[in-house]
Amino acid sequence: MKKSSTHNSQVAIVGGGMVGAASACGLADLGLDVTLIEHNRPDFDWPQDEIDLRVSAINKASQHLLENLGAWQLIDDRDAVAYREMRVWDSLSSEIHFDSADIGEPDLGHILQNRVIQRALWQAMEKRPGITVLSPCSVTDLQPSPEKITLQLDDDASLESELLVAADGARSRMRDELGIGFSEFDFQQTAVVTTVRLAQGHAETAWQRFLPEGPLAFLPISTDQCSIVWSTTADIAEKLVEMDDAAFCVALNEAVEGRLGEITETSQRARYPLRSIHAESYISSHAALVGDAAHQIHPLAGQGVNLGFRDAGALIDTVASQLERGRPISNEQGLRAYERTRRGDNLLMQKSMEGFNHLFSNDNSLLKLFRNGGLAATQRLPLIKEGFMQHALGTSGEIPSLCKKAM
Ligand SMILES: Cc1cc2nc3c(=O)[nH]c(=O)nc-3n(C[C@H](O)[C@H](O)[C@H](O)COP(=O)(O)OP(=O)(O)OC[C@H]3O[C@@H](n4cnc5c(N)ncnc54)[C@H](O)[C@@H]3O)c2cc1C
Repeated sequence: MKKSSTHNSQVAIVGGGMVGAASACGLADLGLDVTLIEHNRPDFDWPQDEIDLRVSAINKASQHLLENLGAWQLIDDRDAVAYREMRVWDSLSSEIHFDSADIGEPDLGHILQNRVIQRALWQAMEKRPGITVLSPCSVTDLQPSPEKITLQLDDDASLESELLVAADGARSRMRDELGIGFSEFDFQQTAVVTTVRLAQGHAETAWQRFLPEGPLAFLPISTDQCSIVWSTTADIAEKLVEMDDAAFCVALNEAVEGRLGEITETSQRARYPLRSIHAESYISSHAALVGDAAHQIHPLAGQGVNLGFRDAGALIDTVASQLERGRPISNEQGLRAYERTRRGDNLLMQKSMEGFNHLFSNDNSLLKLFRNGGLAATQRLPLIKEGFMQHALGTSGEIPSLCKKAM
């Protein structure tokens, strides 16, 4: 865009991560012109066998959304690794086992690198003439007025839009600029992430062990590699990142009681302090928050971006219904309906993760007794287990149109 010029776009999306890019595709498919602003232009060239540290477990509902947007089809089969079973156990070796066969599904989900999903969505955006991407570009200021919202860009241009979609992540500047507060919870845990190679493979299973300091997950990311998310205290995390590879493999093997066989190789390791946040409101005049800008949760159930995709799907449904009724796309009632649909679902998942983490990552003997009883009952009662699985697959509750399987 030219300096000091003013441009118009019906929708402005700030943030071209997975959720922002999915929102752009879905809103453009409603016939709207969309401008997406992303301050870090992503680099989508990397060696085929290199695995990034940021990966996500993508559930069925998110897979359907990506399929319906034409993005899933752009992903190489080797980059989406299905897991058919899940085994969760704790420091007392109480165990629960989920199997996709029990609910007649071919798998429980897929593990993908975040950048693989983002690349597919950016390619899907390129195929839509209604989308303009400004990147690298940042928004420096926002001015809502009764008719529109004006975004000041860092190249001195400005953009006037009917609807701003803030998809700029957990530290959302747009949320702050809109004057929306948020609550925050510090888990006092740090996630250590890395990729490891397993001599005997992962048996198409996602493995999670709850240790007293936090959960440790093994997510299948290639035929014989797993992505690791090890949530623990900040002190232990620092040691795990600094120790040499051989010592790390030994520590990891001990932590999973040797259940996955020999761990032969580890990649570089990184740390993420864990906290959850929740925006006090998801909407403001001419604006809606989606994804991590609205809520960030503990990674233990691998649901963060899945909830974000559901937000995108729900917002797209809301805007579609405003268009059908001939109303403005940022109609206040419509935006309120979006918030009502998503807030309860996201809060439930967030609070469940906080509760789960407290219940399992704990040495308190009463809590141990309670969780053992709970795990044993869940393992024995197929209906409860099935309910858990449907929830994790994203196939229960109010499902946005894009998250349903295309007929
Ligand atoms: C260790 C770990 C493991 C996880 N595992 C899973 C999992 O298995 N499954 C799952 O569903 N979720 C998982 N998550 C959560 C998931 O990664 C996030 O929910 C997801 O990345 C959020 O996507 P987003 O698009 O909302 O935000 P982000 O990915 O944060 O994207 C925001 C984008 O906005 C851009 N941006 C920011 N500010 C501006 C600005 N002012 N102007 C322009 N652009 C801007 C950023 O550059 C970025 O590209 C995990 C998280 C962690 C930390």
